Amino acid sequence: MNSSRISSQGMLLALLSVIVPLVLTFAGGWLLTTYVANERLHTLAQIASQRASATFEQASQTLKNVALTDLQPCTPESIEQMRMIAMNTFSVESVGYEEDVFACTSWGATSPRATKWPEDFVTEDGVKVSIEAYDDNPLIKPMLALQFAAFNVLVDPEQFREVDLDEGIKLAVGTRQGRLLGPARPNMASFLALVHQGPTHGLKDGFLYTSAAQGNFTVIAAIPRQELLRSLWKHVLYLLPVGLIVSAALLLANLRWWRRKLSPLNALEQAVRRNEFLVHYQPIIEIETHRCIGAEALVRWQKTDGTIVYPDHFIPLAESSGLIEGITNQVIQTVLNDLGTILASDRSMHVALNLAAADVCTGHFLPKLLEEVQRLDVLPGQIWLEVTERSLLDPAPAKITIERARNAGFIIALDDFGTGYSSLQYLQQLPLDALKIDRSFVEQVGAATEKTLLVTHVIQMGRALELTLIAEGVETTGQLDYLRANQVRYAQGWLFAKAMDCAQFKKLYWASRPLALRHSDDVNVSS
Ligand code: C2E
Ligand code: MG
Ligand code: MG
Repeated sequence: MNSSRISSQGMLLALLSVIVPLVLTFAGGWLLTTYVANERLHTLAQIASQRASATFEQASQTLKNVALTDLQPCTPESIEQMRMIAMNTFSVESVGYEEDVFACTSWGATSPRATKWPEDFVTEDGVKVSIEAYDDNPLIKPMLALQFAAFNVLVDPEQFREVDLDEGIKLAVGTRQGRLLGPARPNMASFLALVHQGPTHGLKDGFLYTSAAQGNFTVIAAIPRQELLRSLWKHVLYLLPVGLIVSAALLLANLRWWRRKLSPLNALEQAVRRNEFLVHYQPIIEIETHRCIGAEALVRWQKTDGTIVYPDHFIPLAESSGLIEGITNQVIQTVLNDLGTILASDRSMHVALNLAAADVCTGHFLPKLLEEVQRLDVLPGQIWLEVTERSLLDPAPAKITIERARNAGFIIALDDFGTGYSSLQYLQQLPLDALKIDRSFVEQVGAATEKTLLVTHVIQMGRALELTLIAEGVETTGQLDYLRANQVRYAQGWLFAKAMDCAQFKKLYWASRPLALRHSDDVNVSS
């Protein structure tokens, strides 16, 4: 994943880290608000329905008691008694008696009403109920009338709703059949109809409502949206600190993820996983014949955006992070895929592989290398393994690996010779085959006499140890002449060629071969 993609992903995650907790805070606030409101509405509806049921029961009982007494209808004494009953019964406004011929109420004698009260329902014990009983006097508001035999009692519908209401909550009482008691209130009649048909609670027309039924009545308690929003803000403010803490924690985690993703180590891990390494080859020249006799394989990391990273910039990190083994294996695979056929067809050619300290220490690369040379019919002697003095710091395991590799037939070369601290005595004990004279020494050739002497000493030392000598970093003909005069066998450097890709190297290699050999191997090269 390239860095701009990681950045845009990080930005998206950062945005989500802020938005998601905030949305959840609001969602949580809304759930809390509706939960609290529902609980309040439910309690109120319960209390109001119990109240309505109790009021009705009291009025109904009073009516039946009056009807069962042997009261002489509409005498001054019975009217007085009816008045006393009305005054002493909380729920009852008036007691009445009505027959075809005469009628009276607890307020005095009247005449029978011209129109009968419409009957809404009859209770199980035979009480007829009219929810909008109009007296003939238009100034008196509609009452709830209960009739039993010739007696009736009137109840003010407001009595059914006498519950202390919290601010903003609306209450409506209706019959089980869905008719509203008392004056119509906005929305409440439609809620009553809704409840009568099905859901006992919910959100509708900007109200949260709930209902409770008891006896002959249903009570609806509802709270408008504005009230809900007011308490939503209150609950959101409660929850906001939690939301902000979660958001900050997510942002922090996101930041750490982002930094990790953009870290060089992560990029290198990805590169190893995706095999983003390629190998360039720097020709090695036999000084005497001027022929190319092989190459040093130098790894490059080609990033997804095409940029090339040189080994000095990632090998140290790969070594310290343990990723180097994966890289070494990929280099082995690539080199043998690239040059396996030529190596198998020209036994005089060799290729040099660089090993890291960890490779030399563990020797884990060896089975893979052996498998590859066998598969491609390459002789182990055609593979040179370059170890640096740094990789010999842990001498015991290094010696084991070098001996194993050498026993398998591989050639061991000491790279960058002279830049480390290995004692001569120690070098003498190691089973080495070749010595690569470091560029820093070759650079001295042609400089002040004492410095040139140093190069001469290094060359003499290599010879004394009976090692094949290869000079690195040869850039001038003067250096080449000097090396030739001092019998250094091989040279490598920009004087001949820089490191190049496989196709270019093959071209250069075949160009320096004798004609007969070139011809016979052309088939192999193109394969
Ligand atoms: P090295 O093994 O000493 O490789 C020689 C380095 O010197 C190469 O640099 C090469 O391009 C450069 N060089 C060659 N001729 C000249 C010259 O005439 N003048 C100058 N100025 N430079 C020259 P490169 O490719 O950047 O590699 C640097 C180092 O990275 C190598 O030094 C080697 O230690 C390490 N390396 C390269 N490939 C691998 C690999 O596959 N595995 C491991 N573990 N290390 C590698
Ligand atoms: Mg090398
Ligand atoms: Mg070197």
